[in-house]
Amino acid sequence: MLLRHTTSEVKEREGLTINPAKTCQPIGAMYAALGIHGCLPHSHGSQGCCAYHRSTLTRHYKEPVMAATSSFTEGASVFGGQANLLAAIDTIFSVYDPDIIAVHSTCLSETIGDDLQQITRKALDDGKIPEGKYVIYASTPSFIGSHVTGYANMVAGMASQFAVSTGEKKDQVNLVAGWMEPSDMRELKRISKEMGAKIVLFPDTSDVLDAPQTGKHVFYPKGGVTVPELKSTGDSKFTLALGCISAEPAAIALDKKCSVPFETVDMPIGLSATDRFIMALSKAAGVKVPDSITAERGRLVDVMTDMEQYFHGKKVALFGDPDQLIPLTEFLLDLGMKPRHIVSGTPGGRFDKRMKEILERAPGANFKNGLNADMFLLHQWIKNEPVDLLIGNTYGKYIARDEDIPFVRFGFPILDRIGHSYFPSVGYSGGLRIVEKILGVLMDRQDMTANEEKFELVM
Ligand code: SF4
Repeated sequence: MLLRHTTSEVKEREGLTINPAKTCQPIGAMYAALGIHGCLPHSHGSQGCCAYHRSTLTRHYKEPVMAATSSFTEGASVFGGQANLLAAIDTIFSVYDPDIIAVHSTCLSETIGDDLQQITRKALDDGKIPEGKYVIYASTPSFIGSHVTGYANMVAGMASQFAVSTGEKKDQVNLVAGWMEPSDMRELKRISKEMGAKIVLFPDTSDVLDAPQTGKHVFYPKGGVTVPELKSTGDSKFTLALGCISAEPAAIALDKKCSVPFETVDMPIGLSATDRFIMALSKAAGVKVPDSITAERGRLVDVMTDMEQYFHGKKVALFGDPDQLIPLTEFLLDLGMKPRHIVSGTPGGRFDKRMKEILERAPGANFKNGLNADMFLLHQWIKNEPVDLLIGNTYGKYIARDEDIPFVRFGFPILDRIGHSYFPSVGYSGGLRIVEKILGVLMDRQDMTANEEKFELVM
């Protein structure tokens, strides 16, 4: 009973978070930056921050994640980190030769007040950025927001610092990926190709963090959105942002800079959200939905209806990132389940609004996001109203073990299982995978606890 001190009495708390349901901003910025081809993320702060961010991503993706750091010591902490960053830019381009350095700030550099825009401008003026190479930046103070905010800030930085409007529109649609796995990004490209829609997906971590074993070490894997592609987003005819928290800021930045109109849809997780995505992409790209996509939908609907009896009325607690929780909660309702407790550590009013809309179908469900929406609160809610299933990242295993709840790993980070990098959760195929995972743990529980006369060989 590792969490035996969790009480069932819920008290209003201020200024205290216990086991946060989020992690730090630069992790998101680092992950997003890896979705640009030939990019080396750079952490403007102390070595400790960078080591933590790299190790979290490495543990989740089971791939070596490389990033540089400004290596603050006492001097930089007092006098500012400009000299460190300028020296770092020099060293990185001459030793590691990336196409792009994507700099993000940390708590320390933000507290000192380092201005990344001014420092990167100075690097350019001082001739430290070679011809044809780039340095982009994002402000990611971790004392506010979460890893999702950091991701959103870096993706918005890609749009505002790369997009160019030449005046000639291209027959292409920008897809801004909210925080999702490399497998999900690969799936979005497959679906778009199947539909005949020309897209520029950014960021794109497929073939970067799920790169195949070839026997040869490649410093910059072949995946990632390229600089010419990013520049061309300013000429696209439309932008679809997949997620109101992690993707919409980039769409807004593009609209502001290059007048590219946009629509924000939920991340396509589950049946209803995927339906909305497919229709939005069909409209934006001016293409019809092919029979092959309709057949994929039909397979998901078939499994959902065939297995409805096992899902019906089951109570669920879930936690994680807002853009994933919104469509996932809706999908659970579509399956006939009862979402009861939902927390996300990422602050923001959009989550609250969307969840209120979705949970109209689940009266009395608890949900909360922001500072005090932590794992402790989730555990307390579960103690007061037990659930049949817990869904969330690896940190949920403590609650699942203490309360003996079937547990499906979903979200970030997953440190103790594999599969998330390789099998998508988005689209109709992704929906099938989610159904399979949920059904698997529910049926395992039934098999282990059923009385002998109720123990069935066949489902
Ligand atoms: S919370 Fe701040 S100090 Fe801690 S690792 Fe993240 S950026 Fe560094």
